[in-house]
This record gives sequence, structure tokens and C-alpha cells, in this order.
Amino acid sequence: MNGTKAQTPKVAIIGAGLTGLLTAHGLKKAGFNVVLFDQEEGLDARVRDWPISVHWALPNLKSLLSDSALADFPQSFTNPHLEYTPEVESMPCINGQTGEVMLRSAMPGLRRITRQRLRRILAAEFNAAGAIQWGKQLEKMDVDGEMVRLIFADGTAAEANYVLGTDGASSKARALLFGDDEVARAKPSGLMCATGYPRHGDPAKVEPVVNLHPLGAVTAGVTSTCGVAVMYVDDPKDMATWTIAWIKIWRRSKLPEPPAKKGPEALAYIKATSNDVIEPFRSQIEWTRETDGCYIDEMRTWVPVMWETHGGRITLAGDAAHPMLVFRGQGFQHAVLDAERYVQALISVRDGKSKKEEAVQAYTAEVVERGAKAVTQSLSEAELSMDLESVQKMLLAKMGYARTA
Ligand SMILES: Cc1cc2nc3c(=O)[nH]c(=O)nc-3n(C[C@H](O)[C@H](O)[C@H](O)COP(=O)(O)OP(=O)(O)OC[C@H]3O[C@@H](n4cnc5c(N)ncnc54)[C@H](O)[C@@H]3O)c2cc1C
Repeated sequence: MNGTKAQTPKVAIIGAGLTGLLTAHGLKKAGFNVVLFDQEEGLDARVRDWPISVHWALPNLKSLLSDSALADFPQSFTNPHLEYTPEVESMPCINGQTGEVMLRSAMPGLRRITRQRLRRILAAEFNAAGAIQWGKQLEKMDVDGEMVRLIFADGTAAEANYVLGTDGASSKARALLFGDDEVARAKPSGLMCATGYPRHGDPAKVEPVVNLHPLGAVTAGVTSTCGVAVMYVDDPKDMATWTIAWIKIWRRSKLPEPPAKKGPEALAYIKATSNDVIEPFRSQIEWTRETDGCYIDEMRTWVPVMWETHGGRITLAGDAAHPMLVFRGQGFQHAVLDAERYVQALISVRDGKSKKEEAVQAYTAEVVERGAKAVTQSLSEAELSMDLESVQKMLLAKMGYARTA
């Protein structure tokens, strides 16, 4: 193979979330011409943020980053001042009935980042170069010879040699690949998820969380499982400047329907239905103020099945390919693997080592197989976590947070 480059192929990425941006980094590093399209109006359009654990996929993530993003990476940490020791890289799971530590899971190499902070770092150079087109909601994709034509809701169009759909759990790209068929739709899991982000302004309200663990902890063994985490640390010496994130997950059938998905009514509902939650998780919910933000939604999943790649021109990655429950904390970590493998597939085509159709088809088959396993595991893990009798059957109990898909 002679490795000649006839023309630099153009790759269009739909969705400038973490998956799209990370893939863009890897592709740019490899010399591809990348452009991202996102339906939002800009980086600040969505204020919602959450902490994400990255450990087994950390080396893969770092290998994709540009030098400047790699240098800025520590700024994405929830607590950039914290020294990561083996104890910090091992998060506790608390018995939701007794408050005792049930399990402590080693997560070697763990770094806790927030979605917004990492997204900002990943987006910086693409935004500066005008390579992210905001306000572009994908509506249609047409294969036209070697090119794919993208049509957006604002009536504009664009063309690319390759299209990667990284447009999240309710992916339009996925829907289009399945002809808008029901089979592509993410399914309600029957599990509700509420999150809140109190900035207490009072060290005495932050300390109970940090005393559990410097990064956070989760409960199991009860029908309403919870988690608490340190999300932002402005001044490491003053806990009054810290922000906490809490999460509560319950079966939809067990409680009345929430009156609202966000705002004061949603918060009042969570407070009124959390009397059975143990401390210190309950107080974090109780102390959340209306100005802090509270969101409720039913979690959705989609167990991937093979999609048509149109001769290797179109495929998916990240939550668009495998929207899973938060249990096992691996949605983003699998997205990192997708990004790395997609870049490798395109390099092998460009260098004449494989044909476009074969390389992207092989990439897709691997994502579907791995994603289906991870989504299914997240569902069974949720089921097992809500009863003390079954907690010991969880992958968490048997294998900690190690990679299992
Ligand atoms: C509370 C919580 C905790 C989590 N914890 C962990 C963890 O500890 N470890 C872990 O690995 N994972 C975790 N995850 C999962 C992780 O956050 C996701 O897997 C990851 O952020 C998905 O990124 P994405 O880029 O694929 O999708 P998204 O973040 O959803 O990005 C999709 C992008 O596509 C854009 N878009 C959507 N539709 C269109 C359209 N039609 N046209 C153009 N653009 C469009 C959106 O505007 C958005 O910017 C957690 C998730 C949650 C909610």
C-alpha cells in the first residue's frame, strides 16, 4: 500500500457533546478535515452539568487529545486541587438502610471531570477556528455518490465524505439510519432520575459529603438509590465555595408522577418523597434551594442493533450508539473507545490498508456488540441495586467498576 493521500476527506460530526468533540480531536490530530454541527446556539446554551468518572478509558482519552487540550485537562476536574491517591481512586457504596460502607471499589487511574468543563476545553480550538457550526439541527441525510448531504432544520445544507452521528441518546442520525422506524427509538427504563446541584455557602453542609469520601459516594440496597459528589471547588480552603451534586434514582411505579421536570415544583416533589433516604444523602436534597437547580427525567436506553453504514459513509458513536443507564459509570468511557476506534478505522482507509465500507462496518459491528453488552449490564445492575438481597449479585460487588463490556 502506498499511503497516498488523493484529497483530505471531510468528516462531518453531528453533535458537539463530549463524544463528538473527542472524536474531532483524534481526527484532527490524524490530519482529517473535521467540522462539527450542533443544534444548540453555543457552548453556554445548556447550563446543566454533572460529574463523570473516567478511569479505565483514561489512557485512550488522553491519546486522542491535542497537546493544548491535554495540558488543560486537569482544569476539567471536579476538584482540581485534590491529590489522587489509591484511597481517592476507590469510591464507597453505602448500605442504603444502615449507612454502613458495603463495598469499596478500586478505580485505578480515576479522574472525576465535569461534562461542561471538559466540553469547554475540548471545544476551545474548534470554536476558535470556526469548525463548530452552532444552531444546526440535523433533519435529513442523503447519500449522493461518494458524498453525504446533510440538511438542517434552518434550511441550510452541507456535504461530507464521512458522517459520524454523536447526537446523544435521542439521536436524529440514528433515527434516520433506521428510516425513522420504532426500532431506533430509545425505550423508557421505568427508572426516574433526579439531580440537584446545591451550592450551600456553608462548610458544615459540605463536610458530611467530604467525610464520606473526597469525591463522593453512592447507596444501594434500597428502592431509592442515591449518590452525592463534590462537583466544583472554587477555593480548596473554603468549603463555603464548593458545589455538591446529588442524584436519586427510583422506580417510576413506586411514587406518584412528578408535577414538573425541573424548577421549584420538581424540587419540592423530591423533598416530599425522600424521607426514607439515609443521611447524609437526605440532607443534601433537603438543603437544596430553588436557585440551585433540580432536574427530573425518566432514563432511557437503547440496546444497539446493526445499522446501515451506507458503504462506510455514515455511522454512530457515544450515547447515539448506546444510550445506557448511569449504573457502572461507563457511558462516556465507552464513547472514548468509540472515538479511538473510529479514528483508527478512518486512518486505515486513508492509508490504503482497508476499504471504507469494510473498516467502518467493522467499527460499527464492534460498537454494536460492546454497546449492547454495556446497555444490558446497566439495566440489570440497576435492577439488582435496589434490593439488599441482590446487591451481592451486582457486577459492582463482583468486579467493582472494572471494564465489563
Ligand atoms: C448524571 C450522569 C452521570 C454520569 N456519570 C458517568 C460516569 O461516571 N462515567 C461515564 O463514563 N459516563 C457517565 N455518564 C454518561 C456520560 O455523561 C455520557 O455518556 C456522555 O456525556 C455522552 O456524550 P455524547 O456526546 O455522546 O452525548 P451528548 O452529551 O448528549 O451530546 C449530544 C450533542 O448532540 C447535539 N444534538 C442532539 N441532537 C442533534 C441534532 N438533531 N442535530 C445536531 N446536534 C444535535 C446536542 O445538542 C449535544 O450537544 C453520566 C451521565 C449522567 C447523566
